[in-house]
Formats: sequence, C-alpha cells, structure tokens
Amino acid sequence: MKWFDALVRPDLLSIPVYSSAVVEAGGYVPPIKIDANESPWPPFGSISKLVKPNRYIEDQQPPELLQRLAVQWNVTPDDIMLGRGSDEGIDLLIRLLCNQGKDSIIICPPTFAMYDHSAKLQGAEVIKVPLNSKWQLDVNAITKAITTNTKLIFFPSPHAPMGHMMNRADVLALLKATAEKVLVVVDEAYIAFADDTSGLIAELKNHSNLVILRTLSKAYALAGERIGGVIARPEIIARLRGILAPYPLPQSSVRAALDALSPNGLVDGAEHRRILVFERKRMEKLLPKSKFVESIFPSDANFLLVKVKDPADVLDTLKRAGILARNRSSAIPNTIRFSVSTPDENDLVLRAMGVELTKETKGSMPRLYSSSRGTKETQIDVTVNLDKPDFLNISTGIGFFDHMLSQLASHGGFGLALNCAGDLHIDQHHTIEDCALALGEALKAALGDKRGIARFGFTAPLDEALAQATVDLSGRPFAQFTISSNGGKFPAENIGGMSSEMIPHFFHSLAVAMACAIHITVTGDNAHHMAEASFKATGRALRQAFQLAGNSNAIPSTKGVL
Ligand SMILES: *Cc1c(COP(=O)(O)O)cnc(C)c1O
Repeated sequence: MKWFDALVRPDLLSIPVYSSAVVEAGGYVPPIKIDANESPWPPFGSISKLVKPNRYIEDQQPPELLQRLAVQWNVTPDDIMLGRGSDEGIDLLIRLLCNQGKDSIIICPPTFAMYDHSAKLQGAEVIKVPLNSKWQLDVNAITKAITTNTKLIFFPSPHAPMGHMMNRADVLALLKATAEKVLVVVDEAYIAFADDTSGLIAELKNHSNLVILRTLSKAYALAGERIGGVIARPEIIARLRGILAPYPLPQSSVRAALDALSPNGLVDGAEHRRILVFERKRMEKLLPKSKFVESIFPSDANFLLVKVKDPADVLDTLKRAGILARNRSSAIPNTIRFSVSTPDENDLVLRAMGVELTKETKGSMPRLYSSSRGTKETQIDVTVNLDKPDFLNISTGIGFFDHMLSQLASHGGFGLALNCAGDLHIDQHHTIEDCALALGEALKAALGDKRGIARFGFTAPLDEALAQATVDLSGRPFAQFTISSNGGKFPAENIGGMSSEMIPHFFHSLAVAMACAIHITVTGDNAHHMAEASFKATGRALRQAFQLAGNSNAIPSTKGVL
C-alpha cells in the first residue's frame, strides 16, 4: 500500500522480517536441528506448576528469579534487568541512549546481527570497525572511530559466529579508553561453555561503563522461553527498567526458568553443559577428517564454525541426512555453523560429513537421568548419573535419611541430587516411600536398555553389624529385608529421628520402582550401624551391577531383554 508506506519512517522501509534457518529452508523442521545453537535437551522440570494465567505477574522484575540469577552471575539483583532475551536488552540499551538521526553505535564485523538491526530500528548510525587479522578487537581503530555522538560499542565474547573469546586485555584497554564516555557492551551469550565461565563480571566494580549481556537461551536450554539479562551498575539498570514494558516476562517462562535454576535443575544443566563442551572438543578433532572441511575456528561456545569448499553442497548433503545447519557465508565466506548436539546426533552429523567412526571416536552418552515428581504429599526433584559419582546433593528434611541416601549413592558409585519437600508434619512415610520410588525410577531410566551392564551384585561388608546385599537388575521387582538378630527387629524404633520400620519399606519401594530384585540380610545390636551397613552394602552391590562389563555391548540375559 503506497499511501501506508509513505507514512512509515523512510529509514525502516528496507528492513526485512527476521528469518531463521528453518524459514530459509522452506519451513523444513529437521530431525536433527543444529542451526540455532539451542540445547538439544529440554530444560529440567515442568512449567505447569504455580502458573496463574489470569493474573499479571507480581513484578516487572520477578524477585525470586532475579535473586537466583544474581547468585548464578555473582552480582546483586539491582545489577540486573531481565527482559525478553538478550535481544530486548540490546534494543533497550540503544533506545535509551541513541537519539534518532544523531547518535551512533560501534560494531566489529563479522558479528552478531541484532546490534545492527536494533540500531537501524532506532535510526542510530552504525559505525563498523572490523576485527583485526587475528579476529580480535582493533582497540586503536575503535577508539579513533568514536565521535562525540557515539554511545555504545557492542561485541560478543565468546564471539558469534566464530566462537572464540575476545582478549581480556583488549577489552580492559577499551573500557579504560572509553571511561565515562561510551558504554562497552560485552555479549556473553555463550560464556557458560568457555573455560572461565565468570567472564567479565569481576570487572563491573572497576569499570562503570561496562555492560554485560547474559541469556538463558543457550546455557540454560530456554531459547523458547525468551529470558535474558542486562548486567551493569544499578544506576544504568534503573534507567533501563524505566523503559521496559510493564510485564515483559510471561509467568510460564518465569516458572520454567525457576525450575532450571532449582538445585536439581542446576545439576542437570551443568551436566548437559559438561557433555556439550566434551562433545565440542570431540567434534573439533574429528570434523577435519571430513573431505568437505577446510578448517575449523577454535571455539569456546556450543557451536563450531567450519570453513568448507562448497557450503551449498555441504548443506545439501546434510539435509539429505535430515540435518539442518546454518550457512554463515554472509558473515565469513564459505562457512557453515554447526551447533554441538547430543553424542548420538553428533555421530550422525560426523557420518553425514563422511567421517568414519571407530569404537574409540564414537560419542557415548553418560547414563544420566533427571526428573521432577509431584504428588499432593511430596515434591521430589532427582538427578542420577551412573557414570559420574562426584556429585551429591541430598535434602529430604530427614537428616538420618539424607545420610543413608548419601551412603547408598557414594558406595553405589553414582552421582545423586535429590531434593524432597514432603508432608513431614504428618509423618515420614510419604517422604521416604516417594524418595525411594523417585530414586528407583531415575536409576531404572538411567540404565536404559541395560546394554553391557554386569547386572548382578553381591556384597558382605563387615562391621560389628554385618549386612549382606544381593541385587539382580532383572526387570522383576522383588525385595526381601531380613534382620537375623534381635528377634527379626531393629533394636531401636527410631534411628536419628528416622523410623526404623521405614528402612525395609524403603528397599521395597526402591526395588518396585527399579524393577529389580534386592535381598538384604543384616545382623547386629546397634540400629544405627545396622541401617548404615544395609545402605552401604546395597550401594556396593548396585555399583557392581551398574558397571559396564568389559567390552560386551550385549543385554545380559539369555532372553535378550531385561
Ligand atoms: C543467541 C545469541 C543471543 C541470545 O539472544 P536471546 O534473545 O537471549 O535468545 C545473544 N547474543 C548472541 C551473540 C547470540 O548468539
């Protein structure tokens, strides 16, 4: 409509609608989506809890979310403005500072597209000072390019689309050279995948012109929920909050973020980031073996930018294997960006690129499982990792039970985070039973199809209390708990505040949920020691049964299923 276009600001007439790789592929949503640096796993938890869609959220800046992120980012809540992704932070910074047709920002191409886009929306001039030949900031050229109307300098670190860090010394020199004149905005969207995940936070106290962008999109697997933070001195943050919409964050997004930032959500997220970093290094080693690949840019992020001979040909080859990657040739000629995905998906990507995989170079998934389980009586978050025993974070509200669970996990050789909020004002029954069920379900899920495991475990550790435990991960639930002294009963009804009759019940519930057989016989005359020996012995038996037995990849049953 000509008349309408005549009403539109002339400088906005040439701006296209944002298009994603999926849009550019004609709406093709591939089985393997590695085009947008998203997490391949959904976030921890469930968004259905405590959302009241009929109500406005209580605060423009939800206090609990602000508080949890302040802890994560090692700042105070007053240093943060939360908005709809980092994208909104970029937009508001430019709108707050740049007068249309007068002021400018500096960007350092090749770079992330949103800085330029948001500046155009505001009618701000974009001064381009390219990265130097080492793909680092050209601090001299940037300081020379600054005019009296320059308000902001934007760059990502880790860099997008290359993935490497900007030299810290250069950034500090730039901050110093621009002190009290220009804001330096460091976009740390990918910092959680770098060696030093603290980024430039510690420099906020030294430089009042430093602004840091963080996002929950990449590191916290919440790209679809749209939450990002601007971090800066409180005086800057207060002005930004002043121009932010009244209720920018949907309640469901805030709920999803709180789940991801719950104690178990954090364990889950950290495990997934650890896998992605490991996988990035594996891909970095293996992709150069592909006949398509010329070189790879070193990366501290969850993606790899790869130089290829013929991008269109590579994208086509990938597409035939159901894989969508992103062409970045517009930023750097002949490049494709690969988001790092799950070990299995990365293997498919490597194979599609013509890289042959051996037993040593194939990806393998840790036997990891997280879940959130809620009833009217208990709310339990649990994460287990059968291949990484070095985390323990247990809180059930019953001290002695926490102690027993940590014995089970540390002797069982598996990592365990278990948090339970139960109806302890009634009694311990629901809490102990539901924790056993949640733990059993998680262990069962982490075992998957049980390929390659030892299946059986037997132990008899000796204290003055003796416990013998035997387990069979048979797929059939059975539990027998025998006390062979003191007339078949624990010598005390109460052990450190935990009711002793709940101990056999715990093992019964665990066996049901894990679908395994557990036989325990314990003897002694001190109830505390007898309980502890039972948990330890069972842990040791589980450790044997969980073990991957030699080179076998078989399911350890003559039936072929367990
Ligand atoms: C993905 C990305 C962002 C994040 O944007 P959100 O709006 O928070 O999803 C910011 N900066 C860079 C460089 C990115 O690649």
